[in-house]
Amino acid sequence: MDCGSSGQTKNSVSAAIISVGDELMLGQTQDTNAKWLATQFTLRGVVVREFRTVHDDLDAIESVFRELSARHDILVITGGLGPTDDDLTREALRRAMDEVEPLQVDAQALAALDRWFIDRGRPMSANNALQALRPKGARCLTNHLGTAPGLYATIGRAQIWCLPGPPREMEPMFELEVAPHLPRAVMATAAVHSFGQGESFLAELLGARMARDRNPLIGTTASGSIVTARIRAVDAAADSAAMESAMHEIEQLWTPYAFGRDQETLAGALGKLLILRGERVSLAESCTGGLAGSFITAQSGSSAWFAGGAVTYANGAKIDLLQVPNELLTAHGAVSAPVALAMARGCAALFKTQWSASITGIAGPSGGSETKPVGEVFIGICGPRFEAVKQFHFPGERASIRDRAAKAALALLRFALLGHEAFAAPMIWESKKNA
Ligand code: AMP
Ligand code: MG
Repeated sequence: MDCGSSGQTKNSVSAAIISVGDELMLGQTQDTNAKWLATQFTLRGVVVREFRTVHDDLDAIESVFRELSARHDILVITGGLGPTDDDLTREALRRAMDEVEPLQVDAQALAALDRWFIDRGRPMSANNALQALRPKGARCLTNHLGTAPGLYATIGRAQIWCLPGPPREMEPMFELEVAPHLPRAVMATAAVHSFGQGESFLAELLGARMARDRNPLIGTTASGSIVTARIRAVDAAADSAAMESAMHEIEQLWTPYAFGRDQETLAGALGKLLILRGERVSLAESCTGGLAGSFITAQSGSSAWFAGGAVTYANGAKIDLLQVPNELLTAHGAVSAPVALAMARGCAALFKTQWSASITGIAGPSGGSETKPVGEVFIGICGPRFEAVKQFHFPGERASIRDRAAKAALALLRFALLGHEAFAAPMIWESKKNA
């Protein structure tokens, strides 16, 4: 299976990354090599179509060599080149190459090993000499930072590079021995991030643009309630004007939920709008305890548009710091639309900002009731000629309720700055019985 690739991307060079080692399968070592290699390939426009992880087993490694060399142009395998009995990549490669001759000593590699140990004043064990063995039809690759040489061979149309497992040895060997031989291809990637709607709803808006045979190829991912469209384009579609138009089209379809591209954050997008208008914002946070403020202050330069925040957790703090009338708290409770609005008003006055947001809710797991269940959160927004409260019901446990509430406050501020139409756009967690 070619992982569903077809259409215009079919002709591009296809690579597979193989990681070898029991320690990876046992969960003891994180496979950072595969991630690093995938990044390198992507940077160079080579499409990675398959990842494999194999344990230290001769048959398993051999069959992965055979299987993947039949359907990819490039295989890079890391691990299993060391001097011990569980290092089986050399022998597995020999078998997969259908060589009947046993592994051969590579005179140059052996000399390099000799030098390595002489330089360090240590004797070379017989085990170490095994690292100078290679299949007859393979070539050894010099390891400048360790003892295990790499290997290069071909099986059919596939070019195969075997690299050592330790990242500090593998990475320079890739740069030196693999990268210069990769075909020059043009590939571009980009991301458009959104907040406020579910992944399936947003994917539906993209419709046929997500078909797997398209170039650019568009997919969605969700992480921390941020739904991202990932764009990958090759050849003419990777041209910067074509990428710009692909991103712009997604932003239009995802209006007003799309807030930024690539490294852009929700807070950063909010900051841009405020800077444009020369206005500032402040926050009054209850159940999020400063989380929204921490998202903002994680943004370098946010002092230009963020005055500060008040964590007003107890009723007394809401009264003393934000001038929330005691009667409102008694009549409606701290988690209510009137209190959220009063908090936002008091906050704007306290910090002397044009804009403010308040967050008051029940993050759980305790403190919920039938009328005010865990996850119920009110967010108030005040701005020039603008006042509104929205009521949410966030699912999940305490940490994700707080995370979503803090992000929703930033998103609502952004909507409010964009105008009434954007503010009216529903978020997926908004309560039906709106405040
Ligand atoms: P090996 O070449 O199989 O003897 O691997 C030597 C060491 O390299 C292992 O003990 C790991 O610490 C490291 N290593 C191997 N494979 C990987 C990988 N895929 N990602 C990160 N580290 C690795
Ligand atoms: Mg190993």
